[in-house]
Amino acid sequence: MIKTLKGKISLLYICLVVMIAIIGSASVLNLYRLSKAIDGLMVDNYKSINAISYMLEAFERQDSAALIYINVDAEKGIELFNQNSNEFLKWYIAASNNITEPGEKELFEDVNKDYVDYSMLFSKLQEIRNKEGADQAAYFYDTAMMPEFVDIKSKLRELTRLNEIGMFNAKNDATRSTHDSMYILFALSAFAVSGGLILSIHFTNRFMKPLDNLTKIVKTVKVGNWNQQIKIVSKDEIGDLSIEFNKMTKRLHQYEQSALGKLMSEKNKSLAIVKSIPDPLIVLDTAYRIMLLNDTCEMFFGIKEEKVLKKHFLEVIRNEEIFKIMSNAFEDEVEMNDRIIKIEQNEEFYFNVIVTMIKDLESKVSGIIILLKDVTQLKQLEKARTDFVSTISHEFKTPLTSIMMGTSMIIDGSMGVLNEEQQDILGTIKEDGERLTRLVNDLLELSRIEAGSSVFNIEPCSIDAIIDDSVKQFAIQAAHKNVSIHVRVEEMMPKVIVDYEKITWVFNNLISNALKYTNSGDEILINASIRNEKMYILVKDTGVGIPEEFQEKIFDKYVQVKGQDLEARGTGLGLAVVKEIINTHGGEIWCESELDTGSTFTFTLPLNISEVQSEKNFSY
Ligand code: ADP
Repeated sequence: MIKTLKGKISLLYICLVVMIAIIGSASVLNLYRLSKAIDGLMVDNYKSINAISYMLEAFERQDSAALIYINVDAEKGIELFNQNSNEFLKWYIAASNNITEPGEKELFEDVNKDYVDYSMLFSKLQEIRNKEGADQAAYFYDTAMMPEFVDIKSKLRELTRLNEIGMFNAKNDATRSTHDSMYILFALSAFAVSGGLILSIHFTNRFMKPLDNLTKIVKTVKVGNWNQQIKIVSKDEIGDLSIEFNKMTKRLHQYEQSALGKLMSEKNKSLAIVKSIPDPLIVLDTAYRIMLLNDTCEMFFGIKEEKVLKKHFLEVIRNEEIFKIMSNAFEDEVEMNDRIIKIEQNEEFYFNVIVTMIKDLESKVSGIIILLKDVTQLKQLEKARTDFVSTISHEFKTPLTSIMMGTSMIIDGSMGVLNEEQQDILGTIKEDGERLTRLVNDLLELSRIEAGSSVFNIEPCSIDAIIDDSVKQFAIQAAHKNVSIHVRVEEMMPKVIVDYEKITWVFNNLISNALKYTNSGDEILINASIRNEKMYILVKDTGVGIPEEFQEKIFDKYVQVKGQDLEARGTGLGLAVVKEIINTHGGEIWCESELDTGSTFTFTLPLNISEVQSEKNFSY
């Protein structure tokens, strides 16, 4: 049993070569036989016929010699007779040595015998002529020699006929063997062609079938069906290839299994972690359809994940505020983690809405995670603290007012004349009292805004008027400090939808800070312009500047930049209140600054009422 593909192909070739060799040999053999048959036809019979015809000629001349002997010239007759006798015998020997036909040999023997008799009859003829004369000799010739002559001649003709028949038979043989060869060669060729064809088809199919199988399976493996095995049908090179292929797909499958297994266990782990997060968590696709909810979310909103999967967020969790925060973050592709919302579900809950994007390998957003971090307790603590601060501040306010009034009256001299030392002490008491009053006022304002108890009178206001009002208050102070204030407002500005008093307060704070942290000769620039359907306001100074690490922090409560002039220091609450007011209006505030160059405070204000945050107590 041949095992290798090479061996099998070689066997096929050997079979074909053997077939060609058989046909070739058969052709050669047949051509040889044919040439042989033609050879016999041309040489043997022709030679015999030729010799017999010479014999006949010589024999007829002998007959004439006998007649010449009787009637004309005895000597010449004998000479002619003997001469032709030699000729006859010469051709007889040639012909009798070339016997080819059945019966030919016997006929030649007869001719030989008869010819001897004929020669003897010629001797007798001579005797008769010499003894009895020419007439008796003529008579002897007619009665004895002539019949013998006719007999020999007819036998010679018979011999010619035999050879002619032989020749004819040889020709027939040649024709037959030509036909035979033709048929044999035709049969062999047909056999070789059909055999070759069958062998080729058979072997090609046998070789190609495993290759076809292999190709089909490779195609299915290509599209990811790694668990494929080929049936081993041969032990040749293709069989080896199939075995190796099977090993490869097995490994791939094992790899797939293990990688998938790992992936699945990792996924389950992540899912378990996500599910056990103690705050509500929602995962959405980019069309805001629910992909996952954790247990806390199910409990809090009273829904079941399997019933709401693939449904739109607003269909399931009907909270437009969360939706707005999340969709804004998604549209801007930014993370969001600083928006606190209130949800009333029997009781009040506060959540910090943390929105995170799920990004794929190409950094394309493929999903959104919303985590509602429960800050209710913090909010309650904050409220308690604010209430406390608010109460304390309130309690401080009345005694402070009377202290300040009393101090002013004493300083005025209406209670009697004071000496210089008393004046100084009372001056310091007054300054500290004023600072304390500012602190109490700021604290009260902040706690009111934070608690939502501060009423905002929202109405369309002219920004020019607000800036004008505010700048007027600082005109004397600025002139005194030799700091110039420039106002640059675009023409035909639309009105902003704000609380006039609160925004004036914001300007007061920013301008007051700018004045505090500038020196003689510095400038303050106030600029208002419109961009992206929002009003952008800048309060810029050329003062001392703010170090980078403080630029964000200064908006937190009680944060003051270290190292700045202690004299200038306020309560550290001003910017915190400013930020609260701006945020409540739906705007933003930030600071850009460079040390010794100056600071720019920028804030935005809404031009549309819908942009104003709705959670506070607004009156329109
Ligand atoms: P304060 O009442 O102390 O001014 P703010 O909240 O208004 O409190 O400001 C916080 C701190 O930010 C200030 O103490 C000051 O250090 C810094 N600051 C605010 N405005 C400016 C400014 N224009 N230039 C430099 N520093 C400033």
